[in-house]
Amino acid sequence: MDEKEKCCICGKEIEGMGNNPYPVRTEGRCCRYCNYTVVLPERIRLSKQDRYEQGKTDD
Ligand SMILES: [Zn+2]
Repeated sequence: MDEKEKCCICGKEIEGMGNNPYPVRTEGRCCRYCNYTVVLPERIRLSKQDRYEQGKTDD
């Protein structure tokens, strides 16, 4: 029952709580490494792009 959750991006086991992989993935959790190397840069990129898309709800 104590199977560790796997990162939905790289597939490695997640230590601790994991991170929200949005907007790279809409389900699951990602590891800290992917959070910093994949998710955060993507989030920054989208936040620049998203200014004109603001009616959209996420989460
Ligand atoms: Zn990962």
